[in-house]
Amino acid sequence: MRHSNQLVGKAHAAVVPFIVPGVKTTKLDEIAEAFIRDHGAEPGFKGYGGFPYTLCISINDHVVHGMPSEYELKEGDVVSIDCGVLANGFYGDSAYTYCVGEIEPEVKKLLEVTKESLYKGIEQAVVGRRLGDISFAIQHYCERIHKYGVVRDLVGHGVGRSLHEGPEVPNFGKRGKGPKLQDGLVLAIEPMVNLGRKEVRRLSDGWTIVTIDGKPSAHFEHSVVVRKGKADILSTFEFIENAIKNNKELTKIA
Ligand code: MG
Ligand code: MG
Repeated sequence: MRHSNQLVGKAHAAVVPFIVPGVKTTKLDEIAEAFIRDHGAEPGFKGYGGFPYTLCISINDHVVHGMPSEYELKEGDVVSIDCGVLANGFYGDSAYTYCVGEIEPEVKKLLEVTKESLYKGIEQAVVGRRLGDISFAIQHYCERIHKYGVVRDLVGHGVGRSLHEGPEVPNFGKRGKGPKLQDGLVLAIEPMVNLGRKEVRRLSDGWTIVTIDGKPSAHFEHSVVVRKGKADILSTFEFIENAIKNNKELTKIA
């Protein structure tokens, strides 16, 4: 699973140089698919539930499950990319949100807080805690402290031989509630956080989830193993963030 998840991080990083104004999002999808296949793995999302692409690319008010298209990225776009791979029978799953060019400070802050909230959740993914502790940590940070809207309709999940396994990992919940976290459980933790209201709707394409108020949304995801004392993060943003440093068209976030 570590191999699958490291490959997801590298596939993201392979796409990063091409996240520039004017690129069609189908081009990003083609790059990711070629990279994954060149490394002896399969795209994890392609064909899953009929989804036709390697990447979910969700721009601005699109929250998740956006489809690559002829749309050309432009300055100021907030681009969430979610990628999965299947290698040696196991799935990897990780997402990152990018800012193309100059971006509104309040939107940059949304991305930073969403990413921080992912790590707040991961801190709780240890033996002895309960699932609700992860959910609460994310919700508390995003909603109570930063007054954003945490999406309720979509959740994180267990991951392994299937892309989506139990348990569901909501980004909202009560401290001390839910099942006890067991050593070795692998979870995809993935806060989806809106600048405005928490409510979302699905577009008529049957996939794309958008914010109800049209305000932007951010999404960061790691696949992690529950361990004693400290979770083991299987996926990585290291390759992504090194690639971002070399792409002058992208705004760096903390
Ligand atoms: Mg994902
Ligand atoms: Mg996921």
